[in-house]
Amino acid sequence: MKKIIIANWKMNPPTFKEARRLFDKVRKGVRKVKNVEVVVASPFVYLPLLGVGSRKLKVALAAQDIFWQSNGPFTGEISADMLKEFGVTHVIIGHSERKKWLGETDEMINKKVKTALKHGLIPVLCVGEWEREVAGEIPHIVEEQVRAALKGIKKGDFKNGIIAYEPVWAIGTGKAETPDNATKASLYIRRIVKSVLGSRTAEKIRIIYGGSVNSQNAESFIAKDIRGMEGMLVGGASLNAAEFIQIIKNVVEADRRG
Ligand code: PEP
Repeated sequence: MKKIIIANWKMNPPTFKEARRLFDKVRKGVRKVKNVEVVVASPFVYLPLLGVGSRKLKVALAAQDIFWQSNGPFTGEISADMLKEFGVTHVIIGHSERKKWLGETDEMINKKVKTALKHGLIPVLCVGEWEREVAGEIPHIVEEQVRAALKGIKKGDFKNGIIAYEPVWAIGTGKAETPDNATKASLYIRRIVKSVLGSRTAEKIRIIYGGSVNSQNAESFIAKDIRGMEGMLVGGASLNAAEFIQIIKNVVEADRRG
């Protein structure tokens, strides 16, 4: 399965001029890179402006959030149709920063995942523990988050879904999880998905890693012998075009070496 690398720009860059420049550099940088999917999750306001022509150059667009209603009195919210109109194909759901700063709950995340699926958007569901616990053991909260997010979803509907394992203590700290533990988390998450949605869906979904990924460590997450991480969600390092392109190239190379 093709690896997927998703840039999470968060509330960056501060101006559209910089966003345009960064996006164009990434598009050019990956033009000749094969066998990988590249996605940029930009702030909402830049999406319509970036979207024009992006498909041609192989960089897909993601939103960083979605709301579960189609329209109406929901001040500040954005619907699936609004996103789709501007070429958005993926949506990050349940990022820990939204839980921390906006009080996003498991129930809200579940509604958002269902909404994305209903409208044909690919959800990038973020899960991960807040604090490092016993090294090598995946905390139970990860299982709870996966189960809550997938509650009531029909078997098969999530088959194109992506789950990003993002230990919160690793986000933006420069302290990435070890590749071994990340791989363990991926196997653990796939087992839970299997028990909720069955083995066909569990086999099809992609599980990716996020948390202080950079060009030095990205390739170490691509497991060679077992089914490990199938991509990355990259925050800070995605704001530097050269660094982000290097991450993509390193992952492609590691994948090719297999
Ligand atoms: C993120 O916030 O999704 C993330 C992975 O951030 P960073 O790469 O900066 O740790």
